[in-house]
Amino acid sequence: MIKLRGHHLICLHFFRNGPEPLRTKVLEVIQRAEQGEEIEVVEGPDEVCTSCPYFKNGVCTFTENAEEEIREMDKKALELLNLKPGTKVKWSDLKTKLQTDKNIVRTWVEEYCSTCDFKETCEKEYSKYL
Ligand code: SF4
Repeated sequence: MIKLRGHHLICLHFFRNGPEPLRTKVLEVIQRAEQGEEIEVVEGPDEVCTSCPYFKNGVCTFTENAEEEIREMDKKALELLNLKPGTKVKWSDLKTKLQTDKNIVRTWVEEYCSTCDFKETCEKEYSKYL
């Protein structure tokens, strides 16, 4: 069972990069998810976070306010996807939702991607959903 926090349920459809060992972990999680492994929605750090070099003492240290901002992103992602922590989802169902409800990715790009440090990495992928 893969455990993913809110914003990863959206960002991981587009994000394919990052510093090691994060990148390897992201690719591994995406592969497992695409192969049909069930995903449990969780609150707070997940297995992607714990592989990131910016994750220290249980919090994200990417920027000064990163932890707060990321928790807000989680909330917004769950609101857009209409999901709650504890819910089990399939990657293919999430993908279908993102492909059919264009408002989700449009809102996401406007609120987060447009000012995100990883925009260049994700742009090519998220453009396919707009
Ligand atoms: S650009 Fe940033 S916010 Fe947008 S999908 Fe990529 S990692 Fe997520």
